[in-house]
Amino acid sequence: MVVPLEFLRRRGGDARASKATAPTLPVSQPVPEEAVAEDHQLRLNFGAKTSNGVRLRGGPNVLAALPVMLDSLAITDVEVVEPRETTLSVASPSIIRTQEAGEWLRAHGNASPITRHALYVLELLDAIDPAYDTFACAMLDGDVDPAGYPEYSAIVGGVAAHWDESTGDLIVRAVVGWGGRGARGDTDRTANRLLGRLLGNILESSGSLGLTAVDRPGSVPGGPSVTCQHCGYPNVHPRAVYCPKCGMRMLHA
Ligand SMILES: [Zn+2]
Repeated sequence: MVVPLEFLRRRGGDARASKATAPTLPVSQPVPEEAVAEDHQLRLNFGAKTSNGVRLRGGPNVLAALPVMLDSLAITDVEVVEPRETTLSVASPSIIRTQEAGEWLRAHGNASPITRHALYVLELLDAIDPAYDTFACAMLDGDVDPAGYPEYSAIVGGVAAHWDESTGDLIVRAVVGWGGRGARGDTDRTANRLLGRLLGNILESSGSLGLTAVDRPGSVPGGPSVTCQHCGYPNVHPRAVYCPKCGMRMLHA
C-alpha cells in the first residue's frame, strides 16, 4: 500500500500529541475465572433406507428401464446419474476438502438441486456408491425451498443399480433419503412406505428375476483388486467375471 508522506507526517504528529495528553488508565477489572460463553450449535439429521437387491436379466437396454421404476412415485422429473468417471477417484461432497469437493463438483455440479441433495445425503450415509452405481433419482415427497433445494422433511431417492460381478445381471435396489437442519416424526414411516412401493415397481419390471442377496461389489478394502480393461474402474474383485461399473466381461490374464 502506498501512503502519502503528508499522511504519515500527520499521524506521527497525532501520536506525539496523544502521548502528551494520555488519560490515566481506568482501574483494572478482576480477571474472571471463566469467560461468559455464548454457545453456537448446529444439529444436522440425515436418514436413508435401502432395500434388498432385485436381479434383472442383463442386456444392452436394461439400464433404460431404471427411470420407469419411479413411475407414480416421482413428483419431479427423474434424473439418471451415471457412475462417476474413474479419473475422479477422490470425489466427495466435503466442502473443506477442496480436491475432493472439486472432483465431486466436476462430476455432479450440473445435476439439479434435488439430485445433488440426494447424492449428498445418500453418499454421506454410504447408501449408494456413485463410483459404480447408476442412480435414477427424483423427489418423492415434500417440498423444495425457494432456491429449489429439498426441505429437511422432503424425501428424495429412486433406484440404484450395479452389475453383478459373477453373472453380469443388473442388481437394482430401492433407495430413499432425507434430512438437514431438522427432523419430523412421520418422515421415517413415509420413507418406509415409499421404499416398499419402489421395490414393488422394481420387482414388476420386465426382466426381473426376483430378490437376491448379493454383497456390495468390489474387492475387500485393502485387499487385492484388479482394474477393468473397459472403463478403468480399479476396485474389481480379482475373481470377478463382470465389471460392477460398466458390466463388461473382465479379461483375466
Ligand atoms: Zn468396467
